[in-house]
Amino acid sequence: MTEISSITDLFNMSKPESSDIRRLEGELKVLGLSSPNICFQCSKCTSGCEAMKLLELQPHSVMASTKAGFIQEIIDSEVIWTCVGCYKCKERCPQEVSPVEVMYVLKNWYVASGKPIPGDYQNMLQNMITNGFMQGTMEVLDTENRAHDRGSLGLPEIKGPKDTAKFAMILSRMAVERLGGE
Ligand code: SF4
Ligand code: SF4
Repeated sequence: MTEISSITDLFNMSKPESSDIRRLEGELKVLGLSSPNICFQCSKCTSGCEAMKLLELQPHSVMASTKAGFIQEIIDSEVIWTCVGCYKCKERCPQEVSPVEVMYVLKNWYVASGKPIPGDYQNMLQNMITNGFMQGTMEVLDTENRAHDRGSLGLPEIKGPKDTAKFAMILSRMAVERLGGE
């Protein structure tokens, strides 16, 4: 990821943008999702957030900043990329707000603006192109700390797409269409 200012610095330099709120609400409506404006800051999302434990992601704070119009600042911080997509925030929200999907929309805005995709996501895309999964295959350890790969466990080899170039082209076309490009 490119060097990014801390979110506090970004907020100190910024003004809220109501046009971003309207644009976000419009995109969420198309997806059948509620506006962050109805979030009443109960923090139930954050109390169950998987990324909160390790990465200190606070989805309720993201919703508060979004509601207040500091959307570009959220996009330009690293915070949206720490969400692991477990969807607990959506399940727990009494207002049927979906912080996870708000962050997906903002990730799309980030990428559509031409900024570089963070390295871990590039690895994920590369894995999808080569083996069809987000993660590459890994060895596992048994109770005696011995490593085993799929072959030694009698599992079949994972076969990726037959034509990786064609698959990559389709994937990239789908991404461009989703982002509203040419
Ligand atoms: S659970 Fe819902 S209403 Fe409560 S803070 Fe999170 S997004 Fe807002
Ligand atoms: S989907 Fe993201 S924001 Fe929501 S609870 Fe999981 S890690 Fe947290």
